[in-house]
Amino acid sequence: LLDLRPTTATTTTTCGYCGVGCTLDVHVRDDTIAAITPTHGAPVNRGHACIKGRFAHSFARAADRLTTPLLRRDGQLVEATWQEALTTVARRLAAIRDRYGPDSIAMISSARATNEENYLAQKFIRTAIGTNNIDNCSRLCHAPSAAGLTASLGLAGGTNPLDDLDHADCVLLAGANPTEAHPVVGARIKQRVLAGARLVVVDPRRTELAALADIHLQNQPGSNVAVFNGLAHQLIDEDLVAHDFLEQRTTGFEELAALVRDYGPDAVAGIAEVPSAELIAAARLFGRSQRPIVIYGLGVTEHAHGTDGVRTLTNLAILRGSVGTPGCCGILPLRGQNNVQGASDMGALPDVLPGYQPISDAGIRDRFATAWGHPIPGRLGLRIPQMFDAAIAGDVRALYVIGEDIAQSDPTSGHVRDALRACDLVVCHDLFLSRTAEHADIVLPAASFLEKDGTFVNFDRRFQRVRPALTPPGRADTDFGILLGLADALSADLGCRTPAEALAECAALTPVFAGISHHRLDAEGPLHWPCRAPGQPGEAVLHLDRFATPDGRAALAALPYLPPGEQPDAEFPYLLVTGRRLVHYNTGSMTRRTPNTELRPAETLELHPADAARLGVREGTEVTVTSRWGRAALTAHPSRDIAPGQAFAAFHFPGATVNDLTSPHTDAITGCPEYKVTAVRIAPAQRD
Ligand code: SF4
Repeated sequence: LLDLRPTTATTTTTCGYCGVGCTLDVHVRDDTIAAITPTHGAPVNRGHACIKGRFAHSFARAADRLTTPLLRRDGQLVEATWQEALTTVARRLAAIRDRYGPDSIAMISSARATNEENYLAQKFIRTAIGTNNIDNCSRLCHAPSAAGLTASLGLAGGTNPLDDLDHADCVLLAGANPTEAHPVVGARIKQRVLAGARLVVVDPRRTELAALADIHLQNQPGSNVAVFNGLAHQLIDEDLVAHDFLEQRTTGFEELAALVRDYGPDAVAGIAEVPSAELIAAARLFGRSQRPIVIYGLGVTEHAHGTDGVRTLTNLAILRGSVGTPGCCGILPLRGQNNVQGASDMGALPDVLPGYQPISDAGIRDRFATAWGHPIPGRLGLRIPQMFDAAIAGDVRALYVIGEDIAQSDPTSGHVRDALRACDLVVCHDLFLSRTAEHADIVLPAASFLEKDGTFVNFDRRFQRVRPALTPPGRADTDFGILLGLADALSADLGCRTPAEALAECAALTPVFAGISHHRLDAEGPLHWPCRAPGQPGEAVLHLDRFATPDGRAALAALPYLPPGEQPDAEFPYLLVTGRRLVHYNTGSMTRRTPNTELRPAETLELHPADAARLGVREGTEVTVTSRWGRAALTAHPSRDIAPGQAFAAFHFPGATVNDLTSPHTDAITGCPEYKVTAVRIAPAQRD
């Protein structure tokens, strides 16, 4: 029954699900959400919101929210006071640091947490502990974007605002399914296509947008670099490149032209199984458009050669002069989690301080050390996959995890669980007793985004305000408050005591954020970074005068196709691709506790009907999926959206354990796991 009593408060905040960053009005009655509506006139979502942002909110008052700290005693997690919990964490961290050194402690910060919390987390680990062992889940998704865009263009962010999609006459969408993973962007692409823009999709699956596209290049998983080099070949071969731009503002054209001579349409067809005529037609559509935009997602980055994928895709935007010029539409990575851009921007990474200022630069370390009153360690920290290896090797003894369910979300989950078991101390902040929390020695009850004050940065580099609409349940606290309490227990002074103070301190130390403050965001609304002074607007379009590379030019990259970490063979004849579903979000810990789960109560394995027939399985047949790394139980869903020889599943359900299957292969440059290509075998459950 509808409850039509009036609500008592409405708070405008930023969605805590995907990286689009929709602005939402949260209507509250009796400290419980009555409804969420998209904010009228909001710059990103313009009055729209998806099924996650609008309706997946009842998790906030779920009966199994963690409401009190938990300490493991005699093998059981038992309730404790904050003082007991924080003094125990502080005592055990200090003991491990003193016995094994600061690098024996590692922290995984959270792309779900605010900028201010990520700023405080990296300051805590660098000063109170004395190590650069901090990373965030961008390692698992868009680290290749940061590396690739920095190498090609000089900055680790998309070049243009989403609004430039409105001017695009051709959309090249690669390795992304925004209709499900970033629905408001998916809807805006659809609107643009219906208004006449052409659409080229590069994706192994026939997604909803692929079905709508002028051309769908349905390539083999792991073959992106060959396809992008093939498109570059065709653009150069048919003279569809921006000569003046290339001459005046880029380097590397000759090397690229020489390399892609080997990527003619027939050669690419041999690698990617994309018909030659379609590759040629796609290059012509993209090359003859006046204002092309490139949008991409994890289908480009989550590969053993993900950074190469980003760079060879960026080549296409550079060849057309569609970055760094007035009126261009640029290249946009669709960041996954709500604040994955911000977590990295804030320096929750093992090799950079806030604003991507390198740890390796002694002058930068000195500047931060002076401001923080504490030396900054010069030794680079561990990346997330390295943390797990180091834990198993006995080099990392304590793992501190903020708001990430690494036992479900990270690849080769069996290896992750081994790492958790190997640690002397595992500490978690979480909303629920996650699979990771089950391994923890101390679990600290955290606040959700609906209960926090701060900012997020969305996928097009917009700082946006996050405001508390609810009070945290029981004794749950924000990650900011927990870190402050822990620092106090360690007698460490983190300086800033409020989120506004933390962002002000970060801005004072980070030139590209210097003009951003809570006060200004409240008064003026969202601001893009770079924003270099309080009086300046943010730079919505990057690189207009010069690229941020050392020589000021965009760097074309001549990179050959290299095969993925795994290929199908007689023992594992199918390639598994993992991805997302519309109604759920990542590990599903929030969306599974909402009515959204009625629309998808369990995960399925998509496979082609011909493969299903060969395997003797039908809709709903229970199957066992086995890889070299583990096995998972799923139910079959035959679908023509997937090519023969391939399979697809998401990891939203802990029971399905899809990440038990995914391999330990990682991008050589960034360590990003290859979630998108795993060789598997499939069999009806009773036969395997
Ligand atoms: Fe939230 Fe993303 Fe949906 Fe917008 S598109 S409402 S940010 S989940």
